[in-house]
Amino acid sequence: MSDNLIVRTASAYTYPLLIKNLLQFPVVNNPEQEIVYRDELRYTYSTLHERVARLANALRALGVKQGDTVAVMDWDSHRYLECFFAVPMIGAVLHTINVKLSPEQILFTIDHAEDDVLLVHTDFLPILEQIKGRISTVRDFILLNEKETAPESHIRFSGEYEALLEEADTVCDYPDIDEHSRATTFYTTGTTGLPKGVYFSHRQLVLHTLGTMAAIGTPESQGRVHQNDVYMPITPMFHVHAWGFPYIATSMGLKQVYPGRYAPDMLLNLIDKEQVTFSHCVPTILHMLFKHPHIDNIDLSCWKVVIGGAALSKALCLEGLRRNIDIYTGYGMSETCPVLTLALVKPDKLDAPDEEQAEIRCKTGLTLPLVDLKIVDEEMNELPHDGEQTGEIVVRTPWLTQGYLKDKKNSEMLWAGGYLHTGDVASIDAQGYLKISDRIKDVIKTGGEWISSLELEDIIGHHPAVAEVAVIGQPDERWGERPLALVVLKADFGETPSEKKIASHVHEYTETGIISKQVLLMKVRFVEAIDKTSVGKVDKRALRGKYL
Ligand code: AMP
Repeated sequence: MSDNLIVRTASAYTYPLLIKNLLQFPVVNNPEQEIVYRDELRYTYSTLHERVARLANALRALGVKQGDTVAVMDWDSHRYLECFFAVPMIGAVLHTINVKLSPEQILFTIDHAEDDVLLVHTDFLPILEQIKGRISTVRDFILLNEKETAPESHIRFSGEYEALLEEADTVCDYPDIDEHSRATTFYTTGTTGLPKGVYFSHRQLVLHTLGTMAAIGTPESQGRVHQNDVYMPITPMFHVHAWGFPYIATSMGLKQVYPGRYAPDMLLNLIDKEQVTFSHCVPTILHMLFKHPHIDNIDLSCWKVVIGGAALSKALCLEGLRRNIDIYTGYGMSETCPVLTLALVKPDKLDAPDEEQAEIRCKTGLTLPLVDLKIVDEEMNELPHDGEQTGEIVVRTPWLTQGYLKDKKNSEMLWAGGYLHTGDVASIDAQGYLKISDRIKDVIKTGGEWISSLELEDIIGHHPAVAEVAVIGQPDERWGERPLALVVLKADFGETPSEKKIASHVHEYTETGIISKQVLLMKVRFVEAIDKTSVGKVDKRALRGKYL
C-alpha cells in the first residue's frame, strides 16, 4: 500500500483509546451526578474524579509505576470503581482477585499475576491469614477498613485506604500510554485445573464500552439504557469487570449505586430507595431475590435486568415479566471482556404476549456491533442460521483476551484457526438470535442423539414443585449416555412429587415435539442442593464427581 494512504501524521494527535478518557468527559458534563455506596455514603462525579486522582497519587507515592500490578480484594464498592480507573490510568495493571476462590487458588493467582500491591477489605483478612508468609511478590498491603477500629492482623499495612487518599494530592497527570497496554487481568473460574489468567488492554476496554453502549442505546424502548437510568451491579466487580458496566455507566454519566456485600435485604432496599433502573445478575441471585418476603412490596416496573453467566430459564423470565421487569439475556465469558450478545426484542415483537416474548428474551441474543460470531463444525466450517443445526461458537471482536497469561499452549488452543473458541454449543436462527444448548464438555449423547442439557433443565424447571435442577450425562452401556436430572424440590410446595411425576411432566413436552423422545431415558434423583462454582454457576464437574 502506498505510504500516502496511511492517515497517521506526525503533527496530529492520534488519540490513543485509554481508560482515562472514559472518566474525564462525563465529569465535565455531569459533575453533580451521584455515586452511592449502600446506605453509607454518597458523593458526586466531581468527587469521584478527585478521589481517583488521590488514589493514583497515593499509589505512585508507594512507588507504583507503569507495568506494576495492583490487586484488589473488595466487595462491589465506590472504592472498587476508583481502582477501575486510577490503577490503569497510571499505567499499572488492575488484578481483580476472585475472593470466592479457595485461599490456595488465591495465592496462586497473586503469585502468577505478580501482584506488587494488594488492597484488601477487612472481611478478607482471614483468607490472607491462611496463606500467611507465602505471598512473595506483594511489597505493599493497603487496608480497606469501614470500621472505627483497626483489625487484628499479622500484615504490616503500608496504609489505610481513606487515610492514604486524605493525604494525597487531588490533581494528577495521567500519561498517554500505548493503548495496547495491559489494563486489567483476572482469573477464569473454570472448574478444571488451576485458574487461567485473562487480560485486557485499554483499547479493548474502551471499545467494549462503546460497543456495548451502542447496543443498549439502540432500542427505542425495550432494554434501552439512557441518561436517566440508575445503575447498580449485581454481579461481582472481580468477575470480568462486572461485565464492563461500571465503565459504561461512568461514560454515560449515570447515577451509580454500589451494594457492597450482596445481601438480599440490602439489594432490595437500594433498588427501592435509590430507584435503581438497570442491573445485571446471574439467574441464581435473581431467583433468591424473587423468593424474598419483601419482594411484593417493591415496585420493579422500571427495572431492566440483563441476565447472564448462565442460561435464563423461561420460568424465571416469566416471573420477571409478571413483575413488569424488563428482563433479558446477555452472553459472554471471562475471555471475551465479556459482552458478545444481548437478547433484545425486535420492534415487531414488542407487543407479543409474555409467553412469546419470554422465548426471545431467553435466547442467547443478537450480536453487538463489531462482534463477528459464528457457529462451526469440528472442521471450522460455518453452519447455517436455521435455528436447528448446532456447533461451537467461535468469535472475533476487538475486545477478546489475546491469550491466557503466561500459558502458550492453552492460548494457542483458545485461538485455534484464528477465532476464539468459546467451548459453547449453539444454534443461530434466521432472525440472527443465538441460542446456547450446552457447553461442549457438558453435551449429552444418548443413542446417537445430542440432548441439550439446558433445554431439558428448562423444561424440568417448569414443574411447579422444582426449585432447581441440573442435568448431567450418566454413562450407559446401551445408550452411551443417559440424562441424569438432579432435582431440588421447593421446601414450601405441598405434596412431594415422585420421580415418576417429574418424568411424566417431561413426557408432555416430548409429545408436542419440543424436545426429542430420547430424553425419556432420563433418570431423576432428588438432591438437597446443587453444587455451584465460585461465581454461583452450576458446577457440573463437581456434580459428575458426586453422583456418577
Ligand atoms: P465465565 O467465564 O465464568 O463468565 O463463564 C462463561 C460461560 O458461562 C460461557 O462460556 C457460557 O457457557 C456460560 N454463559 C454465560 N452467559 C450465558 C448465557 N446467557 N446462556 C448460557 N450460558 C451462558
